[in-house]
Amino acid sequence: MDSGDGSDEEGGRGRYKILFEGGSCIGTGRCAEVSENWGMDIETGKARPENYFVSEEELDDNLDAARVCPAKNGEGVISIVDTETGEVVDPEIR
Ligand code: SF4
Repeated sequence: MDSGDGSDEEGGRGRYKILFEGGSCIGTGRCAEVSENWGMDIETGKARPENYFVSEEELDDNLDAARVCPAKNGEGVISIVDTETGEVVDPEIR
């Protein structure tokens, strides 16, 4: 990978894929406070990731967003899958 920015450009796609249950986002904005990759959509009042594929360098930043999300009674609506192993990365063990 050469871009390092998690962009979707061909050949530069990040290893980690974000799964976002946008329908269950309650619009607290906490993800956007702690993560560079997350912002709020002013039209929907819900969060929106800038990139759905992020690099190793961006993983911790996105795990922070997953960790602080209070939706679904604290379960959160952001999860991150390692596309090489197919497993969800547990935000609590990083
Ligand atoms: S922290 Fe969770 S509920 Fe709050 S805006 Fe972000 S995704 Fe939505």
